[in-house]
Amino acid sequence: MRGQARDWGTPKTCTILFKQGKWYASITVDCVPSRIQTDKGAIGLDFGTISAVADSNGEVIDNPRFIKQAQEKVNRLAKKSRRKRPPNGRKRIRASRRWKKANKAVSKIQAKVARQRQDWQHQVATQIVSCNSLVATEKLNLQGMTRKAKKGSKRRKQKTGLNRSLLDVGIGNLKSLIQYKVTEAGGFYIEVPCHILKPSQTCPNCGHQKKKELSERIHSCQKCSYTCDRDVAAAMVMLQDARGKELTSSDVESPSSTLCGSMRQLGAKKRQKLVPNASLG
Ligand SMILES: [Zn+2]
Repeated sequence: MRGQARDWGTPKTCTILFKQGKWYASITVDCVPSRIQTDKGAIGLDFGTISAVADSNGEVIDNPRFIKQAQEKVNRLAKKSRRKRPPNGRKRIRASRRWKKANKAVSKIQAKVARQRQDWQHQVATQIVSCNSLVATEKLNLQGMTRKAKKGSKRRKQKTGLNRSLLDVGIGNLKSLIQYKVTEAGGFYIEVPCHILKPSQTCPNCGHQKKKELSERIHSCQKCSYTCDRDVAAAMVMLQDARGKELTSSDVESPSSTLCGSMRQLGAKKRQKLVPNASLG
């Protein structure tokens, strides 16, 4: 075993998993969980494509490089596997041993990238939550954002690239990590309705609204000549809106449930088993 559990107590269950040629043990313990420490700060976050996250303090977190490097490696290996004999059920052709080997290499790297990405997300989320107890972000329509471009569209290639960079960072996952970390720490997580507020079109200094082109990366106001990064400006607007709202109890989720990871999967498994029994009896 490696690392250390944040809290330890009486072990209750142990799940052994075999994933991608590796064995994992997931142990649940009965303990008194200690919460993540958070500070009094407040922050607005804008999830972008050019930079992964821009915050209202003017800091920009870039996309991690390792994903792009790994993608090149995957492409090279995938080319190798295309030259081998794949399985074909209809013609009753079994996969060649070399095809299996090449495919294994691809999935091994993909699994590694997934682990690296998860680690990076946890680090970013923890860093944000450790200084801030109020986090304001926009509500994203990820399904719409990462939809495939229409056939024959001129910007099809760009859209594919945009989708890939959106999915690479795993924005949805990163957001939910931040949400659970901040609520666990007893802070507030607020999603701003961006179709009403329009954070990317509003000046954080004077509130003047003007539509921007996607290529405009810098916000510079015509009215008050306030200038800063486009995504940072959007994050500032979101934070201002969240601060203006009165916090009601419905906005605050109590940090009672700490189900996560394999424990949740374990719970799902149990429910699955129970269903046929119930119908029989
Ligand atoms: Zn302005």
